Amino acid sequence: MTKQPVGDDSVGRMQFLLAMRRRGIGDANVLRAIDEVPREHFVGNEFSDDAYADRALPIACGQTISQPYVVAYMTEQLDVGPGHKVLEIGTGSGYQAAILSRLAHEVISIERYRTLAEAARGRIATLGYQNIEIRLGDGLAGAPDKAPFDRIIVTAAAETIPPALVEQLADGGVMLLPLGPHGGVQRIVRVTKSSGEITQEELIGVRFVPLLPGQAHEL
Ligand code: SAH
Repeated sequence: MTKQPVGDDSVGRMQFLLAMRRRGIGDANVLRAIDEVPREHFVGNEFSDDAYADRALPIACGQTISQPYVVAYMTEQLDVGPGHKVLEIGTGSGYQAAILSRLAHEVISIERYRTLAEAARGRIATLGYQNIEIRLGDGLAGAPDKAPFDRIIVTAAAETIPPALVEQLADGGVMLLPLGPHGGVQRIVRVTKSSGEITQEELIGVRFVPLLPGQAHEL
């Protein structure tokens, strides 16, 4: 295959969108957001040929940018609206935050590695997305100063549901998180808060890197 210059893989991008549709992503707003955000911008140069392949890719600090289908699926299930304030735990590359920012009013995303948080901030600034705030810190504590959140998405595997996040969910709010053993298969769980009552529903099986406590001491 001939190598396309980065940012001009229009055939790859079209096939990518079609693949998402074929796999059942039907929400036009989610598809539009995926179309709008250049994924090649979020993967290292060495992986630019794979930017539109449907698989997770390595990023710095031993972490991964999630598989596009899982990003699309979780975004669709989260049901984000234009007035929503959204909290993401696990910024990683910043790709999921970028997608969410096309659908929501405001996105706060928390990352425990300084290197990743700074790189993600740089990408978001280059793209000119102004409604995303990337914070360095422990996502398990959420962002109490910005709570409550209409939507919360956790993009690292939790072994139990973090109580601070449930607390920071608005009434009528929805939280999605991969729940299950580290290093194994987790399930995406949808947590809903309605009149103060919490309900949980299990969705698809996934594999995410672990949600770990505390800010990372390494870079
Ligand atoms: N959403 C990302 C992929 C996330 S990978 C993307 O679109 O690229 C999971 C990320 O969660 C990793 O970067 C990891 O460092 C981060 N993470 C794990 N535990 C965390 C915690 N307690 N607080 C904040 N970030 C955390």
